[in-house]
Amino acid sequence: MSATAINSSTTLSLSQRATQTKESQIREASRYCAQFGAINLAQGLPDFAAPEALKQAAQDAIAADINQYADTWGLEALRVAIAAKLQRDNGIAVDPDTQVTVCCGATEGLNIALMSIIDPGDRVLIFEPFYENYIPNLATVGGIPEMLVLQPPQWEITAEMLEPYFQKGLKAVIVNTPANPTGKVWTRAELELLATFCDRYGVYVITDEIYEYILYEGEHVSMFSLPGMAERTIVVNGFSKTFCVTGWRLGYTVASEALTAAMRRIHDFLTICAPAPLQQAALVALSFGRDYYIQMAADYKRKRDLLYSALEAMGLSPVLPRGAYYIWTDSSALAEDADRAAFRLAQEAKVAAVPGNCFSNPKRQHVNGLRFCFAKKDSTLAAAIAQMQKFRL
Ligand code: PLP
Repeated sequence: MSATAINSSTTLSLSQRATQTKESQIREASRYCAQFGAINLAQGLPDFAAPEALKQAAQDAIAADINQYADTWGLEALRVAIAAKLQRDNGIAVDPDTQVTVCCGATEGLNIALMSIIDPGDRVLIFEPFYENYIPNLATVGGIPEMLVLQPPQWEITAEMLEPYFQKGLKAVIVNTPANPTGKVWTRAELELLATFCDRYGVYVITDEIYEYILYEGEHVSMFSLPGMAERTIVVNGFSKTFCVTGWRLGYTVASEALTAAMRRIHDFLTICAPAPLQQAALVALSFGRDYYIQMAADYKRKRDLLYSALEAMGLSPVLPRGAYYIWTDSSALAEDADRAAFRLAQEAKVAAVPGNCFSNPKRQHVNGLRFCFAKKDSTLAAAIAQMQKFRL
């Protein structure tokens, strides 16, 4: 059935949910990136290989006929390894049998978390600029996003900023630390402040910690580890970013027994399980020592510094990220609106970035901001920097 047939029919109609969900602007940026032959610093994925040991482990698992559905909740040994990592790196003690669920990426984790706690009309606080999926994910469950705008360069949170949102009534808050697109790393004090509000007003927290190990300054603190927060926090994390396997679709959630039981019921009927052979490989990923994480963060830091200097020299006033692999810049020197600025950069400098509109309140008229991804080979970054140096604002 074609889209035209659906539109012209008086009896057939798409759901409001489907019509309200707009196509990702990141994909649009990638389209005109190809059209102009630009270098793609828009999409948030590495253009380099995953660790050899992981690739080998996945191939071995398929060769060993691990090709059928895995345990719905996740391979037992993997859940045990995740629980050990939580204890070692986050100071979190959980039961892998009842509190850890392996799912199809942090994306599924976020969706099953929202489906488990949000009813239509429930308000959910997010911090703007935010990861673009939060809006469509909330739309799917009928949740209403409350967008608290943070200001560069610190993107800091204060009690005065939080109070009105909590007074209005919230069901949950989504915290992303380290954050996409700003690189903000929530401090322990900020998380403690938010925890106080969540406790006082009876609010859940979903923490998206997918960039946990891509950290340059500060410490990564998981909300789940703060006193009294384990009962009301759902941790969403995964393997995509840390192990350079965004296409493997491997993530996990960590929550109380009751919340986990709810999420597992939904997960089972949504995807049944995460890819079985790749879960075997993820087990190998979690056996990597400290060196792996230290080297990865050092490599990304070098790339960050390289791109940051180039963007600064261009006059785009970049904000130095403390974590994740994106740099947020001003876009006003390129054009009045971010959309136009991104288009101009792709067309004239032949470098694609994502317009800030993608991470902002969809109703906002004028957005100032561009997001550049530096999870790229040094040669890709060098080529992009050379193109930008040729371009005069
Ligand atoms: N959360 C954030 C903040 C992200 O930036 C991304 C991907 O860009 C995801 C979640 C998606 O993670 P996954 O690949 O595990 O679904």
